[in-house]
Amino acid sequence: MRVGIGYDVHGFGPGDHVTLGGEKIPWSQGIRAHSDGDVLLHALCDALLGAMALGDIGQHFPDTDPRWKDADSRVFLRHCAKLMQERHWRLVNADLTLIAEAPRVGPHRVAMQAHIAHDLGCEKDRVNIKATTSEGLGAFGRGEGLAAQAIVLLAHANGGSNGH
Ligand code: MG
Repeated sequence: MRVGIGYDVHGFGPGDHVTLGGEKIPWSQGIRAHSDGDVLLHALCDALLGAMALGDIGQHFPDTDPRWKDADSRVFLRHCAKLMQERHWRLVNADLTLIAEAPRVGPHRVAMQAHIAHDLGCEKDRVNIKATTSEGLGAFGRGEGLAAQAIVLLAHANGGSNGH
């Protein structure tokens, strides 16, 4: 078994939607980011890479690389899924928390869960998505951006300790 943790932050900027958990949500602002700025998927990718001891998302998808300009972060997630498959790791569960005053994830939760389960090739009930506000405190409370935390547990197919 391996555990991994991930965290990501992006600020709001000009735009008309935010992408969260692979779901495009119409919104009065956009996200400032090189890619689509999907904090939930970025935190999840970092947690998966962390569990496999494969560094972080910035190493695999540098934000200086024009290939990842406005990239769909599901591409990053599928890349992590491929790395897991190659190393015989499977997801036991992932637990994600969005930290934002808005937008609300409630109406989009099921769609996000489906996107993530699809990309990781696992059952939907292995993926939990929850959200909290910052109670009006700090940068997130002022609605300057949003953040996400992810934690994952992976199990190795052979019950081995190093995944190779
Ligand atoms: Mg990010």
